[in-house]
Amino acid sequence: MASRRELLKALGALPLLAGCAAGTTAMNTSPANFTPSGLPLRRVKVAEERVIRTIAGLRPFRPNGFNVSRERRGEKALIHNYGHGGGGISLSWGTSQLAVELAGAGNGESCAVIGAGVMGLTTARLAQDRGWKVAIYAKDLPPDTTSNVAGGQWSPTSMYEEELVTPAFRAQFDRAMAFAYRYFQNLAGPRYGVRWISNYNFSGESVEENFQHRYAGFYPQLRELGRHEHPFNAGGVRHYNTMLIEPAVFLPAVMQDFFAAGGEIRLREFASADEILTLEENTLFNCTGLGSRMLFGDEMLIPVKGQLTFLLPQEEIDYNILGNGGLYMFPRSDGILLGGTYERGQWSLEPDPTATRRIVSGHRAFFNAMRDPWAARATA
Ligand SMILES: Cc1cc2nc3c(=O)[nH]c(=O)nc-3n(C[C@H](O)[C@H](O)[C@H](O)COP(=O)(O)OP(=O)(O)OC[C@H]3O[C@@H](n4cnc5c(N)ncnc54)[C@H](O)[C@@H]3O)c2cc1C
Repeated sequence: MASRRELLKALGALPLLAGCAAGTTAMNTSPANFTPSGLPLRRVKVAEERVIRTIAGLRPFRPNGFNVSRERRGEKALIHNYGHGGGGISLSWGTSQLAVELAGAGNGESCAVIGAGVMGLTTARLAQDRGWKVAIYAKDLPPDTTSNVAGGQWSPTSMYEEELVTPAFRAQFDRAMAFAYRYFQNLAGPRYGVRWISNYNFSGESVEENFQHRYAGFYPQLRELGRHEHPFNAGGVRHYNTMLIEPAVFLPAVMQDFFAAGGEIRLREFASADEILTLEENTLFNCTGLGSRMLFGDEMLIPVKGQLTFLLPQEEIDYNILGNGGLYMFPRSDGILLGGTYERGQWSLEPDPTATRRIVSGHRAFFNAMRDPWAARATA
């Protein structure tokens, strides 16, 4: 049976057929409507009256990259898995796999995972798969974690500064990326809120573009489009596919799997590393994200604030936009996500109204200038 999304896509093509019958331009053969599926791109309706919420979150950024490592504290094995900046959803299964490998096989023993964001939940699940009996301790659970604020594009970027990382880190990164890329593919579908989607990237020769060249195998259908091969009012555009992971679906689904495998969650806030070390379990995974700065004195770890505004959902929109003057758009079932900001060292979780106006007006100008033969121009 056709899904609702497939049905809407098919309906989206109907005016096109009507246009052909009336002798108008056959848009589906026009290079200006390049899509791998052959279906045309529709315009996002950006208007103040369609705004449903604005939120902010703090990316746990370490310029020298995430910390996945093991240390001994007395009787305890302490395994760190934190500091994933703007790519933690993407790399989650990957660095969590590295972390559980550092713990070895569980053989029915108990371990504790501190933190219930994406790192805590995926570490906990993979530890269960390796035979550990797992308890999660955290002060916040989904939907109140940074992981719930994430956009959810599968692309492990904005995670480190190129010139600061070591070859050893790069080896960890490459393994984590390959593992996560394959693991997420197993989860594609509505149960985990994971799907493949086209991306149109306008950012030019940026760090992110170089990243995609280096890791081209992770960005299928990577193709440079000329000015006349897309419907946007812009020059060259890069097309590629990524997965889009909806945090509001994915995180509760992983939590359900954790409970189904016998896991327990205990709400608890720790004031120090010493307090964590009083837990009864001898193997402890630290997945506290930005919390690791205070708990473990990691001064490398800083917040990078990100702000997002959501519009009413539009099911006919099935592509991501990136690099429109630093802005990005992801179409999710909980709304059209408009980003974004990157404010280093900013600890406030309060959305900034000036940033909101910039995000909304920037997207409105962008989509008003887009060619969509089936939509009236979006109004202010
Ligand atoms: C605006 C924005 C957009 C983003 N977009 C993307 C994207 O498109 N793709 C992508 O891959 N990533 C994206 N990210 C990044 C991603 O959200 C993070 O890298 C990821 O959520 C980090 O996960 P975490 O589990 O380490 O931290 P968190 O989700 O912050 O979880 C930390 C957990 O530790 C607990 N904790 C902390 N301190 C203590 C304490 N003292 N005692 C007890 N518990 C404690 C917390 O309560 C929480 O349960 C985005 C982030 C933001 C803010």
